[in-house]
Amino acid sequence: AQNSNSVSRKNSMGVNFSNDNELKALAEAVNAKSGQWSATPLVAGAQGNGPAVQVTNPADRRDNVGSYVSADAALVDKALANGVAAQPNWDRLPAASRAAILEHAADQLEARRGEFIALCVREAGKSLPDAIAEIREAADFLRYYAAMARRLFGHPEQLPGPTGESNQLFLNGRGVFVCISPWNFPLAIFLGQVSAALAAGNSVIAKPAEQTSLIGYAAVKLLHDAGVPTDVLQYLPGDGAVVGAALTKDPRVAGVAFTGSTETAWAINRALAARNAPIAALIAETGGQNAMIADSSALPEQIVKDVIASAFQSAGQRCSAARVLFVQEDIADKVVGMLAGAMAELKVGDPGQLSTDVGPVIDEDALKILNDHAVRMDKEAKKIAEAKLDPAATGNGTFFAPRAYEIPSLDILKREVFGPVLHVIRWKGSELPKVVDAINGTGYGLTLGVHSRIDDTVEYIRSHARVGNCYVNRNQIGAVVGVQPFGGESLSGTGPKAGGPHYLLRFAGERTLTVNT
Ligand code: GLU
Repeated sequence: AQNSNSVSRKNSMGVNFSNDNELKALAEAVNAKSGQWSATPLVAGAQGNGPAVQVTNPADRRDNVGSYVSADAALVDKALANGVAAQPNWDRLPAASRAAILEHAADQLEARRGEFIALCVREAGKSLPDAIAEIREAADFLRYYAAMARRLFGHPEQLPGPTGESNQLFLNGRGVFVCISPWNFPLAIFLGQVSAALAAGNSVIAKPAEQTSLIGYAAVKLLHDAGVPTDVLQYLPGDGAVVGAALTKDPRVAGVAFTGSTETAWAINRALAARNAPIAALIAETGGQNAMIADSSALPEQIVKDVIASAFQSAGQRCSAARVLFVQEDIADKVVGMLAGAMAELKVGDPGQLSTDVGPVIDEDALKILNDHAVRMDKEAKKIAEAKLDPAATGNGTFFAPRAYEIPSLDILKREVFGPVLHVIRWKGSELPKVVDAINGTGYGLTLGVHSRIDDTVEYIRSHARVGNCYVNRNQIGAVVGVQPFGGESLSGTGPKAGGPHYLLRFAGERTLTVNT
């Protein structure tokens, strides 16, 4: 059913997997391995001249993907000055003009899909299906925020004028927005943040994750080519501790959109608060300790299929991913046995091959955290399964074999571990309130999966679990723009939800005009 928050828009179609020619062309583009990309800061009227940082493929460190030049303090200063000067004119454009540029960028992104998919596979280690989905989601964000800008920013809202006045409410951009994006959705979340801030009338300085600077550069070029002025959208690659820190302490920043760890969100919040400056808007989407609860009315086959997708797709590198399966005792042996069987079939390896289920993790640091966690779990928990790693396919990359462990309670998981590790906890029929309390007790509140065919159980969980996205009898990843607005609460984020009807409002200021008629 349509409601007042729906906008007329279609989600991107992606790639037709039954069309052999389309698939072949894609696989060729990805596997050519000859392409090299380069990136530099994009600051109007200035150039970066730092040393080049080499980028290698996480699946095969011998594959040189390209290089980028980091920004320095002088470029940060120049970008901010440009952004402040350029924003008012951009804000005064009709919202429909800004929207048309974003829609044009979405069309161009789809037309140049092969190149972007190749970049996502080679720089971010995305599997081919994940890379295809990434391009679709990015196009969806561009079109969704364009449609929302037309609807919310296109005309002032007429308010009552009981005393013979005319009253109008206008929405406008806040100023310079800094968008700090993660490597796990290097195109979709990057373009989502940037397009929302632009649609609302802000100028933008985009700071990509260091690991995916080339994708961020290509995305900014795409928007420039589509018509966003080069002083309205600028690009500053580099170390978070240098570039991110210089941006967030600057009084000229009106708002920050950030996706990444809870710890970094705290640091940004503190930096913004320490300025003697207008109080900034912070939109943070952070971590999770996501659970799936399965009771004995659920189908074990379906639980296993959905928990495998939720925990291991994208090598578990999604903030929505399932980390803990709470399975009711009566079916636990069956589910655990089937889980071990399914994990033995997982193919870990080259993300450019369609037969691959799990690609690499992003870098050595991520691998070390996972290996350390596995060492601890091997001592403190019971291993259920570990997928096989074929040295020939994985020996030159940062690969981690998906694992599952049985643990007694959530207490032994100190913090989110961002990768393909699932933990399983058994619960008794009478313990549902305790299970939900334990999940709420983590302090996070992002996604929750539920497998049950008992309405009262689903309703109990829905009304007691403090999570942003709850999914019943399906997997808990892959929120669709405009369909499952995405984002959590508490330690998982500030809201509003990305790809939802209220997102643009947080990027906006409100002004009223009262005229005595
Ligand atoms: N939106 C993604 C999903 O639903 C997760 C985004 C993230 O990992 O930050 O799977």
